[in-house]
Amino acid sequence: MITNEYLQRVLADVQKNHPGEPEFLQAVEEIFESLQLVVPKHPEWEAAGLIERFVEPERVIMFRVPWVDDNGKVQVNRGYRVQFNSAIGPYKGGLRFHPSVNLSIVKFLGFEQILKNSLTTLPMGGGKGGSDFDPKGKSDAEVMRFCQSFITELYRHIGQFTDTPAGDIGVGAREIGFMYGQYKKIVDRFEGGVLTGKGLTYGGSLARTQATGYGICYFSDEVLHYHGKSFEGQTVVISGSGNVAQYAAEKCTELGGKVVAMSDSKGYIYDPNGINLEVLFDIKQKRRARISVYADEVAGAQYVEGCKNIWNVKCDIAMPCASQNEMDAEGAKAVIANGAFAVFEGANMPLTPEAIEAVTSAGLLYTPGKASNAGGVATSGLEMSQNSMRYSWTFEEVDAKLKGIMQSIFQECLKASIECGKPGDMMVGANVAGFLKVADAMMAQGIV
Ligand code: NDP
Repeated sequence: MITNEYLQRVLADVQKNHPGEPEFLQAVEEIFESLQLVVPKHPEWEAAGLIERFVEPERVIMFRVPWVDDNGKVQVNRGYRVQFNSAIGPYKGGLRFHPSVNLSIVKFLGFEQILKNSLTTLPMGGGKGGSDFDPKGKSDAEVMRFCQSFITELYRHIGQFTDTPAGDIGVGAREIGFMYGQYKKIVDRFEGGVLTGKGLTYGGSLARTQATGYGICYFSDEVLHYHGKSFEGQTVVISGSGNVAQYAAEKCTELGGKVVAMSDSKGYIYDPNGINLEVLFDIKQKRRARISVYADEVAGAQYVEGCKNIWNVKCDIAMPCASQNEMDAEGAKAVIANGAFAVFEGANMPLTPEAIEAVTSAGLLYTPGKASNAGGVATSGLEMSQNSMRYSWTFEEVDAKLKGIMQSIFQECLKASIECGKPGDMMVGANVAGFLKVADAMMAQGIV
């Protein structure tokens, strides 16, 4: 509930000016809940219209993406890039290719990205983009033609000092490779830092593929230790089976947890012996197959239709790593009823406001995605540093830097939560710590 008058007024304007954008409005309200703990201490913000400027993207780009499928038929998708805030660095944030992509989703992701990037302590502003294109079921040649068309329009708006996209749902090394190749051809320059998540032979960083999932576990491990616990011996359920979920599962297993269930958008697998990651990686990475194949190949495992049912699996720790609003109040209640003690977000905004309320009021440990999944963008920042230096760090060097960044994000969040009188509240900590740095930069740069 927003009680601060200034924030109430801005929120009413946002609701009026952005109708039909429920995910964006949800993200704004969630962040305002935390900001109302610091806004009264800064009357100068209202005079500078700071919050009004903070909620308005600096620029929104929408464009046509025409391409020809393997049957010679013309297809048209819509492309987006929201350049939300560049106060502390060039816009940075992923591209999502998924049929559900619309302006509301890209805006919510770009808005959250501002705070996430600020938390990493690296100089990166917030942005996000994508398309309603679905790479699933398309041939490599079709994906290439789509990526080339997409970047042929977007190239004029990006660059290592302006905007530097990366991957997200539906955008992995294959898509980044096709986009980078086309960008390089158009600008006739090898500008490595313009896109991150590149292949290792042309400027990618070791450990970038693993970074988001590993980072979630490094951050969660800090939270667990703060509360006198650890991953050792805990039963874990991880939703999703994409990039983030796979490497969260790997690191979690390495830290002593037992991952018994994972999902895709159609259903989930349950393996009481702990998911065999070698088999899972083969199915998802090499064969690009559905997760149900796992149950056909691993004795003792079973497949259950309906991805939301995964929250009925008994666990100690639940880690939603698939997509926004994937755990609703019902899912949260099932997790609580089954005796879990923690919900660590891996995806962006995977819990509905009602689910967050249910989980936190039941006393479970809870971490917001914008803090716990910041390791992906942080390592993208490290990829850009290596591109600028024309140098590559080893896997161990990047991994150690990633771990250090996740530990410092936890410390920053903890400090801010204590200063706000909510010790250990990671949502308040992440929103406030991330915002204060951006606010300071915006105030210093005048009304722009
Ligand atoms: P991937 O495309 O690699 O995997 C997404 C996974 O989530 C797939 O298993 C997919 O199943 C499932 N999924 C997608 N949409 C839904 C849905 N509506 N309901 C249920 N399951 C769904 O994406 P990532 O792993 O890269 O991203 C996952 C989350 O992490 C997203 O929220 C993303 O924004 C966030 N994130 C990603 C980062 C990165 O570095 N990649 C960095 C920070 C955050 P299916 O295959 O059936 O579609």
